[in-house]
Amino acid sequence: MDIAANLATLKVDIPAHVGIIAVSKTHTLHEIMEAYKAGHLVFGENRVQELIEKQPMLPGDIEWHFVGHLQSNKVKFIAPFVAMIHSVDSLKLLREINREALNNDRMIKCLLQFHIATEETKYGLDLAEAAGLLGSPDLRQMKNIKICGVMGMATFTNDMNLVRKEFQLLKSIFNQLKASHFQYDETFSEISMGMTSDYDVGIEEGSTMVRIGTAIFGERFKL
Ligand SMILES: *Cc1c(COP(=O)(O)O)cnc(C)c1O
Repeated sequence: MDIAANLATLKVDIPAHVGIIAVSKTHTLHEIMEAYKAGHLVFGENRVQELIEKQPMLPGDIEWHFVGHLQSNKVKFIAPFVAMIHSVDSLKLLREINREALNNDRMIKCLLQFHIATEETKYGLDLAEAAGLLGSPDLRQMKNIKICGVMGMATFTNDMNLVRKEFQLLKSIFNQLKASHFQYDETFSEISMGMTSDYDVGIEEGSTMVRIGTAIFGERFKL
């Protein structure tokens, strides 16, 4: 795998306004360093244990994004360094992120994860749950988190029409929340959608951040 070449190809393909999160789960420090040396600084992991093993071994200017399901009791392990958590799906989790961010005197950016796929296995909120969360009086007290937008994962399928519909749903959720809760908040601006198999569709439907593993690092051989 020529990781530098893969990144160069993607950077030609992906418009400059769309951020690329290099999802490095299961890949080695050496592979991550290849991307880093090619000038890429933004990486994502989906498991707390793996992330906290890797992070201390890698350069301090890497911007780490957490993209997997996160349990409240594990927030404390990543709060000292994580830049953005893409997978916020409850007020309880948000409270814990705020608490641990405060303990570390930091600000942690968050995205609300929405369930847009037809598969039941995927995590995430629906619009009503998000409205409940955003209407909570607690939220105004949380000074160490910043809700920057939404994230979603499409169904794992070759049916790109279905994927497109799901991304359109996420975009419409973003628009509705923008109008109802974030009209004057410029930082609510991110739509994290698109992976190796569907980032092109994601970008066509308004993605501002794509989370790409395989197209950068190659196939994953372990879970
Ligand atoms: C693994 C993963 C990705 C990247 O997947 P690829 O298909 O390898 O690009 C993106 N988002 C999340 C949440 C992931 O867990």
